[in-house]
Amino acid sequence: PDVDYGDGEHTSSEALKKKWLTLDPEDPRLQAVNEEQEFTPFLLDYMRDKWHVTDQGFDYNVVAVFGSQSTGKSTLLNRLFGTNFDVMNETARQQTTKGIWVSKAADRSLLVLDVEGTDGRERGEDQDFERKSALFSLAIAEVLIINMWEHQVGLYNGANMGLLKTVFEVNLQLFQQKGSPKTCLFFVIRDFTGATPMENLQATLMKDLEKIWAGLVKPAGKESSSIGDFFEFNFAGLPHKIYARESFEAEAQKLKNRFYDKQDPAFTFKPVFHKHIPADGFPKFAESIWEKIVSNRDLDLPTQQQLLAQYRCDEIMRVVYEGFNDNIKGYRSQLEAGKVLEEMGRETEQYYRKALEAFDKDGSRYNKEVYEKKRAEFVDKMATALHVYYVQQLRNLHKRALNLFNEKLTESLKADDSDFARKLNDAREQAEAYYRSVEEGTRLKDANWSSDEYFFQFKTEIDEIAARKRTEAMERIVKSLERFIAGNLTEPIEVLLNDGPIDVWTRIIDAFNDTIVEAEEKLRKRLSGFNSSEQEVAASVQDMKMEAWGILQKTIHDEFADVKVIERLRHKFEGKFRYDEAGLPRVWKPGDDIDGQFSKARDEADNLSVLYSKIDVPLSKLDSAITEDERFDPHSMVVLSPAKLQTLRDRFKREADLLFVEAKRSIVVTTAK
Ligand code: GDP
Ligand code: MG
Repeated sequence: PDVDYGDGEHTSSEALKKKWLTLDPEDPRLQAVNEEQEFTPFLLDYMRDKWHVTDQGFDYNVVAVFGSQSTGKSTLLNRLFGTNFDVMNETARQQTTKGIWVSKAADRSLLVLDVEGTDGRERGEDQDFERKSALFSLAIAEVLIINMWEHQVGLYNGANMGLLKTVFEVNLQLFQQKGSPKTCLFFVIRDFTGATPMENLQATLMKDLEKIWAGLVKPAGKESSSIGDFFEFNFAGLPHKIYARESFEAEAQKLKNRFYDKQDPAFTFKPVFHKHIPADGFPKFAESIWEKIVSNRDLDLPTQQQLLAQYRCDEIMRVVYEGFNDNIKGYRSQLEAGKVLEEMGRETEQYYRKALEAFDKDGSRYNKEVYEKKRAEFVDKMATALHVYYVQQLRNLHKRALNLFNEKLTESLKADDSDFARKLNDAREQAEAYYRSVEEGTRLKDANWSSDEYFFQFKTEIDEIAARKRTEAMERIVKSLERFIAGNLTEPIEVLLNDGPIDVWTRIIDAFNDTIVEAEEKLRKRLSGFNSSEQEVAASVQDMKMEAWGILQKTIHDEFADVKVIERLRHKFEGKFRYDEAGLPRVWKPGDDIDGQFSKARDEADNLSVLYSKIDVPLSKLDSAITEDERFDPHSMVVLSPAKLQTLRDRFKREADLLFVEAKRSIVVTTAK
């Protein structure tokens, strides 16, 4: 398999394969530790891709074999577990490759370790590798098969006993703490003849084992411990493979059952032997155990388990988070485009649950404390990622819900501004409910997120818009009233001014007063839907009255343009001077009192001009709301300033004079005919 074993150095996989001998795809074995005492980088690949055990959780077993060189260990393993470990060639007697080999038993989630080259004792070499492989086997295997010839039993000073002494010492070093798993020592007596019954051999062995145990220097607190506190023992004899071929096969089959058949009362793998390393963490665990052993550092299993838990939980987290991130990353661009994703919360909640489940499934098998800590970290990590989306969603939601509010309000005000307060409230409620429901749907159930601040901003902005809309609507109402007021005043004023009755101002002000009474009534009615306070309504009424006063001023001002005034005076004058009492045009005859008629008509017109000069009514005739308003200017009662009045009178007089001369001439002309 092509692997990246993660040291960053890109050792080509070709070179790696050359170095590690067994990467033949057809070969089910793996050299776990080579002659240079290096640990394989391929164990995870083998376990996952070739042996398919990494997803087994705790449902797998590990067995190792221990014993002198050439005692048929590999032969035994191959026979029991269907493996293909190297067997020393009988004729050539060549040495098999040193190291620790691992393979998977046929038809069972069982890892089998074959330890080669533990023969230093016999060959006078140092026992370094023997000790290391014993440590390694005890740290990871549930069952250690101790393989020996029958004739080695009882040789207390023989190589085997030295080996066992090593195993015991090493065990004490590894499993000092309380509740440590026991290990099964399974003695397989080879070339068993039966001449000495098995029970006797067993008793002899136990006696020797007790003796070794008694001779060990035990760590503090363990002085009185017994061998049974740490080990359980199993025994089996196997006849000579060549001289008793048939019974060898039969006994081998029986022995095999003890490793395969869970129903067999002598089934070897008791749960108490399990080292509690989840299968997916086994490669890393085995590797770090070996590294510790090789570098001669203290091998403290609980610490190793914690480290493994950290490593694996991080690893699981990384893988699961990657999947989680793949699931959620699609939302980002959509959110950035300003969309409100109403389904997002439901979906991300599912991804979150799924990811957490996946993390729990693998992670919960590891050290509880570490797992819980990492779980919290994982939850936090996912929540943080989702919170970014949540905030972005709220930002989009804010805009969207405001639009909704605006649209709804505009729509309902399309016809008119009646029931303004209710319409406003409806629109607000709808927008707020929408905001709340999407917000709630987006929030991660487990998380403790607050939307208060965002919602407050949202409400504030609605308030602002509402206030603006209200002002606009009220302005519209006042505007429509202005049209009403102007329409009510313009014509009557023009007519009255044209007629110029003596009480012209009283009548104009009467018309004005009637208009504002009517306008106030309309205003109050239109404002009734605004839910305004009496104070607000009163202020509007006051504004309307001042506005009306302004309209009156403007209307009068327009009617008092110079030409219009002169026109009216002339009209008045001509009505008297050029027409008689019956309204017929006068034809002056000699002897007519032109002078008298002229001065009468001119005085009348002149009186009119004086009448026009100011709004000649007592202030009390006006609504006190107007006269008492600070915006009211008493000078506004003056229509024509004295100077202006004088100018207009002069202009009119000159025009009248011309008409007078014309009248005189007309007589001369008629007389002359
Ligand atoms: P290992 O070095 O302990 O793994 O031993 P091997 O499995 O390589 O076997 C060493 C030699 O012993 C080989 O020549 C085997 O044929 C032989 N052998 C295997 N099983 C037995 C057995 O039960 N009795 C005897 N006498 N020889 C055996
Ligand atoms: Mg061997």
